Amino acid sequence: TTIVEVQDIGKRYGNIIALSDVSTSVKAGEVTCVLGDNGAGKSTFIKILAGAHQHTDGTLLVDGEPTTFANPRQALDVGIATVYQDLAVVPLMPVWRNFFLGSEVRKGVGPFKSLDMDFMKKTTKSELAAMGIDLRDVEQPIGTLSGGERQCVAIARAVYFGARVLILDEPTAALGVKQSGVVLKYIAKARERGLGVVFITHNPHHAYPVGDRFMLLRRGKSMGDYPKSEITLDE
Ligand code: ADP
Ligand code: ADP
Repeated sequence: TTIVEVQDIGKRYGNIIALSDVSTSVKAGEVTCVLGDNGAGKSTFIKILAGAHQHTDGTLLVDGEPTTFANPRQALDVGIATVYQDLAVVPLMPVWRNFFLGSEVRKGVGPFKSLDMDFMKKTTKSELAAMGIDLRDVEQPIGTLSGGERQCVAIARAVYFGARVLILDEPTAALGVKQSGVVLKYIAKARERGLGVVFITHNPHHAYPVGDRFMLLRRGKSMGDYPKSEITLDE
């Protein structure tokens, strides 16, 4: 099932064209990779999907309905969650507290204070375990986890709070080979669980193994949108 359909979307800031003629789709259980160098328009694309900016051209369809999000909250309410590179985590707070941080603004979950601490700890542990991360201690400050594990916690949190579409902003960019591997496995898990994933990266070697579709941005323009069967990865 197609969740998000992007049709010839563009974004102008005054005279500056940050993005033009971008088309792709996000389906349940698929990973859509958005590739491009600095200045290609990746951030602009994310912000439109996440409701932080509004497109000025083209059509964004969510569940078949033309949509323009006025703010990030509206995107979250239809299940589009964004994990930004600079994760919104508080390093000195325990993992479980970070997992439930901001839950008062998430749909369908009661205020943070009304949730029982044991429930939050257990849930954090089991949700991470379900995605393949076995944390010995959810009491440890999240700052003690590796960068890869922190990305995974942020993804698990979005999944738990009802995301249908996960937008991942360069989740492997700041990581070494091993930690990137952890995150890529995690992306595959999210896909298995039926989420639509938008994986923003400048690294084709990270995108290729987990991706189902690939859209390449260059200087704000789409160089095409291809299913995996139509691409090869040059050495
Ligand atoms: P990327 O994330 O791929 O590096 P961006 O989406 O940040 O690319 O930027 C794409 C282009 O749009 C760049 O030329 C950038 O300077 C321009 N741009 C982005 N945001 C704005 C803005 N708010 N006002 C004017 N130009 C912008
Ligand atoms: P990031 O790369 O962290 O996503 P950017 O550096 O692209 O963020 O942009 C930071 C902020 O500055 C954003 O709100 C973006 O829209 C804005 N911005 C980016 N490029 C320009 C520009 N050329 N002129 C004005 N604003 C810009």
